[in-house]
Amino acid sequence: MQGLLTIPRIEVLWRYEVIDFELTEEQTMLRNMIREFAEREVIPVIRNYERQFQFPFEIVARMASLGMLGGPIPQQYGGMGVDWITHAVISEEIGRISFSLCIAIPIAHTSLVEMSILNWGNEEQRQSYLPRLTRGEMIGCFATVEPNVGSDGVAIEARAELDGDQWVLDGTKIWITNGSIADLAIITARTEEGITAFLVEKGTPGFSVTRIEGVMGIHSASESELNLTQCRIPRQNLLGKVGKGFHIALSSISIARYSIAAGCTGIAQGCVDACVKYAQERYQFGKPIGSFQLVQGIIADMVVETEAARFLTYRAGYLKDRDLPNARETSIAKYYATEAALRASTNAIRLHGAYGYSDASPVERYHRDAMGAIIFGGTNEIQKLIIGRDVLGISAFV
Ligand SMILES: Cc1cc2nc3c(=O)[nH]c(=O)nc-3n(C[C@H](O)[C@H](O)[C@H](O)COP(=O)(O)OP(=O)(O)OC[C@H]3O[C@@H](n4cnc5c(N)ncnc54)[C@H](O)[C@@H]3O)c2cc1C
Repeated sequence: MQGLLTIPRIEVLWRYEVIDFELTEEQTMLRNMIREFAEREVIPVIRNYERQFQFPFEIVARMASLGMLGGPIPQQYGGMGVDWITHAVISEEIGRISFSLCIAIPIAHTSLVEMSILNWGNEEQRQSYLPRLTRGEMIGCFATVEPNVGSDGVAIEARAELDGDQWVLDGTKIWITNGSIADLAIITARTEEGITAFLVEKGTPGFSVTRIEGVMGIHSASESELNLTQCRIPRQNLLGKVGKGFHIALSSISIARYSIAAGCTGIAQGCVDACVKYAQERYQFGKPIGSFQLVQGIIADMVVETEAARFLTYRAGYLKDRDLPNARETSIAKYYATEAALRASTNAIRLHGAYGYSDASPVERYHRDAMGAIIFGGTNEIQKLIIGRDVLGISAFV
């Protein structure tokens, strides 16, 4: 019996060294600061932004002044230089209040754009763009997906050719978060040597953006189509090396997946919070509905899945903080947390009755937003392929 109990423990220690379930004092303070900010300045106004499909520039400016636009970016470039667990804490707190803000800032702006420039840009590009991005003077977007090319990212059709000292870009990108409000776009295009990434600034002739109407959720974020027609950019706007764009996209999307997992843990936690409050305040049959065991069961499932989502996300963060391989763990966290958020939000609507079916409560918004999260950052079917292939030892390109 003794032997049976010790074997898995040794394996866990070997893989993760130690397991610490507590946030540090700094992480707790940051979480409380964001929670207070969100409750004071975001909750009272976010429904109006959502109803009007408006990007909350004023809130983002406040987030910038609190350092929330550059969590993991080193302080020398204007960021907070926090670790990955702290980035998850930030993403979760923002996701708990507004997934529009979460997808726009920690996911797209920070994880996709700032991290790409930090990891793949040259020193001149880092110094030129990162301080402006972390201060919120520029908003970024990252564009790979095209009308004919989604999950099969290697098949992109946008093209780039070198003409003297300029790259000439042609193509269309679609579903791009922050597209219509971005000052800077990272765009992948096919070159002779393979897929390459470029930095394209707003206002460049031949570069136009159209916001996509009729999107199901994340109404105060912006999903856009980007068009490039003979768009000329300076040769030095190449990001990383020629032919390495797919690699850049994969590594940045993996960071975004981590942030999506944390943001969706926030959605699930938001559902728990809303349901607990409602179950205590709403009376039927002369009792608070929380006294009915079927309602308790709904909340219990939600709590279990929220905690599981959080721990899976922190496990991926733990590995990221130690520079250990984490692709499988990040996909597990993204897959589980997004599905948990979807289940939690469906059941939160159920628990709120008709009030949950209107924007009187945030839970219908959580549900529409969680639906987008199962698609964005690689659909959950693609996450299952990544996990299954990794477990089976099969190469991604078989
Ligand atoms: C809210 C939101 C924000 C987004 N933001 C951005 C952004 O900022 N930048 C950007 O570049 N893109 C963005 N996207 C696009 C997103 O990355 C793609 O939608 C996603 O990669 C899937 O591509 P697709 O929609 O073309 O679906 P497809 O790839 O056409 O897939 C359709 C269906 O087929 C399934 N499928 C495809 N291939 C396989 C396979 N091999 N095995 C099993 N099933 C498979 C998929 O899982 C899905 O169910 C965003 C999308 C959403 C919804």
